[in-house]
Amino acid sequence: MKAQPLAAKWRKLAEARCAAAGERLTPARSAAYAELRACDRPVSAYELIALLEERQQRKIAPLTVYRHLDFLIRVGLVHRLESTQSYLPCDHPEHSHESQYLLCSSCGHAEEVESKPIRSLLLKVADQRGFHPETAVVEIKGLCGSCAATRSN
Ligand SMILES: [Zn+2]
Ligand SMILES: [Zn+2]
Repeated sequence: MKAQPLAAKWRKLAEARCAAAGERLTPARSAAYAELRACDRPVSAYELIALLEERQQRKIAPLTVYRHLDFLIRVGLVHRLESTQSYLPCDHPEHSHESQYLLCSSCGHAEEVESKPIRSLLLKVADQRGFHPETAVVEIKGLCGSCAATRSN
């Protein structure tokens, strides 16, 4: 199977995450992960399908790619951004976490910030109201540094 090359560092981490979950990084899962890693911004499932089809020169059933994405999320290698329905490879998959994301609405760049103080503050605010949160993910939309600089020129 033709696949986007995956740097040794990410392959090792991906294999470790899969092994920890009692799973295997199959060639198809690995190909989907490598494609996401190579993108410089989060992509939708359909964009990912198009990239994989282009690389492998064949039709791929959307359901298959959704399964790979679910798998990659489950083992902590990829995050799903709810507000843009897109997928972002995690830069620190060695531990599970809930993050904050800075999403640029101009160029599509996304940056993952893993701030424990923000997370505990959110959980505290919820707790004070007797609310039982299931997640404490924050997605912040705006302009990244370079887009903001371009606009102000
Ligand atoms: Zn992450
Ligand atoms: Zn930007």
